[in-house]
Amino acid sequence: MMNFALMCGRCRKKISLSQPAWRCSCGSLLDIQMEKEPDFRFLPGNRQGIWRYRAFLPVDREENIVSLGEGNTPLVSLDLNGRSFQVKMEQCSPTGSFKDRGAAVLISKAKEQGIRKVVEDSSGNAGCAMAAYAARAGMECRVYVPEATSPAKLVQMRAYGAQIVLVPGSRQQAADAALAAAGSGYYASHSWNPLFFQGTKTIAYELFEQLGHTAPDVLVLPAGNGTLLLGAWIGFKELIRAGAIPRLPRIYAVQSSQCSPLLAAQIQNRWPPQDFIPKQTIAEGIAVASPVRGCQILDAVRESGGEVVAVEEKEIRSAILALGAQGYFVEPTAAVSIAGVGRISPALQPEERIVSVFSGHGLKASNAIAAILDEA
Ligand SMILES: [Zn+2]
Repeated sequence: MMNFALMCGRCRKKISLSQPAWRCSCGSLLDIQMEKEPDFRFLPGNRQGIWRYRAFLPVDREENIVSLGEGNTPLVSLDLNGRSFQVKMEQCSPTGSFKDRGAAVLISKAKEQGIRKVVEDSSGNAGCAMAAYAARAGMECRVYVPEATSPAKLVQMRAYGAQIVLVPGSRQQAADAALAAAGSGYYASHSWNPLFFQGTKTIAYELFEQLGHTAPDVLVLPAGNGTLLLGAWIGFKELIRAGAIPRLPRIYAVQSSQCSPLLAAQIQNRWPPQDFIPKQTIAEGIAVASPVRGCQILDAVRESGGEVVAVEEKEIRSAILALGAQGYFVEPTAAVSIAGVGRISPALQPEERIVSVFSGHGLKASNAIAAILDEA
């Protein structure tokens, strides 16, 4: 059995993972350290999805695993604007987004810790995932969502039996409301809670196996709170420590130019950026003005040799239409990373292997996509 510990990034305090802590007593972010390298030689052949990597996930007892069949998403090839690349189909996850990886591990561990009720804030996808896994575990779940959340995502959360609190104003205000409510309870936040990233790291493991025990050269991911990006970073770093790959893929974080605090920080070379004012974007999933792990996201991108880039709304709309024409129906936030591939690929070598993701399903945002089609 692997050993895991919670560690504070600021005061270096170590906390046992048997404690349901989502932040340090000093107020800072916690991370999870795995005290051994993952060994891919003895993976169970009879197990699919993220629990194939159970030995490298922080859930001790088999009976605490809460699963809806997450992970094991296809990797498909795509040709857009004269460039070939591969895309991980995370929209095929049980609730329609990659957030299921994180929610599965977080809720499983919460069950192991005896938690009966979780609180989360979300622009939609994380709320849907948390609501679904909480339902599966028989836990109560309350989600704080911004007023402007896509109606389809609200219906989905309600179907899972979650209690929904609509918060007037921005995504940030929903996060603040959840944080206030979580003061005494268990905050299942996909940005604060480090267990979430232990789930999203499995995308690195899966890519490693799907690419014949190698890593891609370039990884292009959407970035709001950075839940997928940081998970991929953690997973690939573990693979380096295990001696399985020589180096990290260069990680490109793609934001909407309407809301790009990470790009502003990269330009100013400081976190948080000064004088940053977010504007409305159709990519609601990454409309995050001040990601709590912003500093970590920038570290990950820099360490990998990648960059933060931003795409215009019209590039996001074109990507949705171009993907539809190839048979893929994805939400605007997912089209952001594909538009990002278009942005960065002219500067890449032709032989470099690029991987991106479809982060969420188009059915979650059919109203927004209808508006794009009507305009086109
Ligand atoms: Zn601390």
